[in-house]
Amino acid sequence: MIVRTCRAALLPLAVLLASAVWCGGAAAASLTIHAPEEAKQGSAVRVRVAVDEPLPRVAFTWLGKTIDAPTVAEGPDRVAEALLPVPVNASKDLIVQASAGALTGKATVRVLKVKWPEQQISVQKNYVNPPKETLKRIEGERKASAAAIGRVTPERHWRGPFVRPVPGVVTSAFGGKRMFNGEARSYHRGVDLRGAQGTPIKAMADGKVLIAQNMYFAGNTVYLDHGQGVISTYAHMSRLDVKPGESVKAGQQIGLVGATGRVTGPHLHLGVNILGVAVDPLSLVPQH
Ligand SMILES: [Zn+2]
Repeated sequence: MIVRTCRAALLPLAVLLASAVWCGGAAAASLTIHAPEEAKQGSAVRVRVAVDEPLPRVAFTWLGKTIDAPTVAEGPDRVAEALLPVPVNASKDLIVQASAGALTGKATVRVLKVKWPEQQISVQKNYVNPPKETLKRIEGERKASAAAIGRVTPERHWRGPFVRPVPGVVTSAFGGKRMFNGEARSYHRGVDLRGAQGTPIKAMADGKVLIAQNMYFAGNTVYLDHGQGVISTYAHMSRLDVKPGESVKAGQQIGLVGATGRVTGPHLHLGVNILGVAVDPLSLVPQH
């Protein structure tokens, strides 16, 4: 869907009503939103906004949150892009609002429902109901994780397309409703990819290392900040090859596949959060 709006002050009402795509002559400034018409629950939506004035930033508002993205020159226009999350439980159409200077516009993205599978998992008992002495550690890690995935920095490090971190197939899909030893836990907030112990893991995109440490449930874990609220996470690694604060390039090795934390065998648990909302990481990776 392409929605173009013009600066209202320059236009008579009749022109505004007559057309959403014609802005009444070259003198009128305009803002054009390129967004998909529909998107699946749990996917990432890529939205582009073009302005024909030299405006340095575009603010994208989505789910009540705002990303303030810098524009880059593209022909006579300036363009900004954002990745936006569709929550797994989104039930109505979502609206992206964009504004730059005095220009504003909005577009609607229809949400397609997904039938999420149920996943039965058996793990050691101490990972379903962790021993009391580990609760403080788990709570600290939960807070650090929440702070990392909720981070929204204005710089954009990501450039599409995103890299698949290991070649292995999906062994446990994103979004499954999880039962651990028969007890209901929340849905699977990432995707599990098959990988033998020691398989190199690549960064999905350029970014900065926020976390590289051992965690109770996730084992050896890396969190990468790709900017503008896009965070990728890699869990259960056998080895960490990066340190917090380090910059990484798309495709750079950040560690090795392992079986640390709450797992039944070696694999990569891969997560992507955008504006703190979990989406299917593979919705960002080109499918061949
Ligand atoms: Zn997983």
